[in-house]
Amino acid sequence: MKTIFQRIIDREIPAKIAHEDERCIAIHDVNPQAPVHVLVIPKSPIARVGAATADDSSTLGHLLLTAAAVAKKLGLAESGFRLVINNGQDGGETVPHLHVHLLGGRPLAWPPG
Ligand code: 5GP
Repeated sequence: MKTIFQRIIDREIPAKIAHEDERCIAIHDVNPQAPVHVLVIPKSPIARVGAATADDSSTLGHLLLTAAAVAKKLGLAESGFRLVINNGQDGGETVPHLHVHLLGGRPLAWPPG
């Protein structure tokens, strides 16, 4: 069964797209936790970072570089931003399709909850 993100990638359900290329899509989160909350999602169906293999190294690097580029595009380069990857139950993962959260637009507390 397809995840919600696979359905967005396949254009079966809509999303507000911040960036797309041949390897990933970046969409605005439907339930934003900050003024900017974008999800950078690989088009290849990696479940989570803990399930990635050495074959995914290039994709993983691409996700981080894309997240930084989207942060810059959305005006966060100077003020700063945070990238988060939730992995598994205790990590807060709810969608089993790898995604990098890009958060910014306000000061973010540390440590996270
Ligand atoms: P996770 O909890 O797995 O790290 O993050 C999943 C994220 O996906 C959550 O922040 C949630 O708000 C977001 N999300 C879930 N369903 C949708 C959807 O249909 N569209 C968009 N744009 N975001 C979604």
